[in-house]
Amino acid sequence: MQGYWLLLGVLFALLLGLATGKAWERYKLVEGRWIDRRRVRQSPFFILGLNYLVAGQVDLAIEALEKAASLDPGALELRLVLGNLYREKGQVGRAIGEHQSLLQRPRLNRVEHANVLLCLGLDYRRGGFVDRAVSAFTEVLRLDPENEAALLNLEKLQEDQHQWREAYLTRQRLAQLAGPPDQPRSQSILAFLEHELGLQAMKQEDWSEAARRFEAAIELDTTVLPAYLHLGDVRVHLGDPQGAARIWEESLDVSPDRAYLALDRLETIYALGSEQRFPQLCRRLIAATPRDWRARAALARHLLSAGDPDRALELMFEALEHNPHALAIHQSIWNILSTLDLPRPLVARYIDLTRRSVFYLDPHVCVRCRYRSTELLWQCPHCHEWNTFVEERITPATDEETEIPAGLTQ
Ligand SMILES: [Zn+2]
Repeated sequence: MQGYWLLLGVLFALLLGLATGKAWERYKLVEGRWIDRRRVRQSPFFILGLNYLVAGQVDLAIEALEKAASLDPGALELRLVLGNLYREKGQVGRAIGEHQSLLQRPRLNRVEHANVLLCLGLDYRRGGFVDRAVSAFTEVLRLDPENEAALLNLEKLQEDQHQWREAYLTRQRLAQLAGPPDQPRSQSILAFLEHELGLQAMKQEDWSEAARRFEAAIELDTTVLPAYLHLGDVRVHLGDPQGAARIWEESLDVSPDRAYLALDRLETIYALGSEQRFPQLCRRLIAATPRDWRARAALARHLLSAGDPDRALELMFEALEHNPHALAIHQSIWNILSTLDLPRPLVARYIDLTRRSVFYLDPHVCVRCRYRSTELLWQCPHCHEWNTFVEERITPATDEETEIPAGLTQ
């Protein structure tokens, strides 16, 4: 009988302990008041705030979440989010104040500490306090070496400051963390960073270092076109025009739609040797990419200087059909027409070809953020992504070709 009571007593003590534990988890003593921690998440303000966030109504979301947060002044995540919302609204000072005050809290664990510091780093970055942002993200990485958000932000800050070497090391850490699925993307970014290091060496006239960097970039990612172009420039500088021509010719196969970047360079080299090589190359490019107007323009220029304006004009009319918006084509056509003394039938053909065309500016567009630019850029100044620019084209009404760059169709 005594054993029975003892067992019951133990069971009761166990249940009491469990209930106390549950209550402790749920309630917390704040400034002499017991606060139900679940109340924050169950409060209508919390749900309302989330709904406003989803609807993109930041002001109303802030108002509701502030009310929810007042139910439990200790709710760390909610205050963290509120700080982030202040930042998104452009109130950087207020965001910094909010996050700094969270940092003052006693008993923050390691993960919480890293989270608050990450948000503070984002505030600093938004406010343009570069050094403070760098030290915040560095501190996050000390607490949590595998924090990808901190690494990504650090990488972009280093790129902004042209600290290519540091950015390279950061990207290597990111690549290691992300593992094989991310490898091609990281390899490509590393290649662009190598290319920047090469450009830096070029500026310092350290030609062999520059060549080494460009070669390393190509080895990392064979599609990094600017590395081919600049490697050729270095070879010309080192007195190796044949080597330059070789690497530029290689670049044509890497990216036929951007072949024009190597064309002018190759024309200069070929002019020194065989007369026929340049027109042959242009014809090969035109056959490979029928829409390439620049190869046609280059060949037309060549024919014109060789005294064949009629064939040059035919090529430019073809180029115009493919790309009616390129001002350079119109200029070239008028140039040739005036060489021929403006023959009426040809002028009439030109007017007929352009009648249905629409003209617009800034043909290069970032497929990630749609930033527009008059020239081809390798890194987007808006979203900072690498190699995201394509040339937006208008297809004439009569043209059957309707290919639009893949990234622009969504
Ligand atoms: Zn962009």
